[in-house]
Amino acid sequence: MAASRALPKNASLVHKFLRRQDAPASAYQILDGLRDVGITAPPTVYRALDQLVARGLAHRVESLNAFVACSDPDHDDGNGFAICTDCGSVTEFSGETVRKALGDIARCQGFALDHATIELQGLCSSCRPAEVGNNA
Ligand SMILES: [Zn+2]
Ligand SMILES: [Zn+2]
Repeated sequence: MAASRALPKNASLVHKFLRRQDAPASAYQILDGLRDVGITAPPTVYRALDQLVARGLAHRVESLNAFVACSDPDHDDGNGFAICTDCGSVTEFSGETVRKALGDIARCQGFALDHATIELQGLCSSCRPAEVGNNA
């Protein structure tokens, strides 16, 4: 769906850059990384990011104020992110179950939920200390 409309050139450059990163990138890191290809102004980066986010090709990780390429652009809104506080890697996961639960809580409060941010912070499987003993 989203892929059928051609991306503007700058958005496509930013998208490629994000896909090469192991961790979310801030607008300034993107700017730094793309200076060589002629992107030199922050508004250019922000406009490209807006386009990518609107098409679901990238997401803003709010707690980091940084951006990641989407791992599955066909998903519905509201995926969550598991953020490793050690290596900085971010893993995207389906936020559907959580979103439903948050929607129910909001309804009970008479609150009209617009959107919810689902961001988990902790240690990824590579950074987590190996479990001690196997209870063998
Ligand atoms: Zn996504
Ligand atoms: Zn990690």
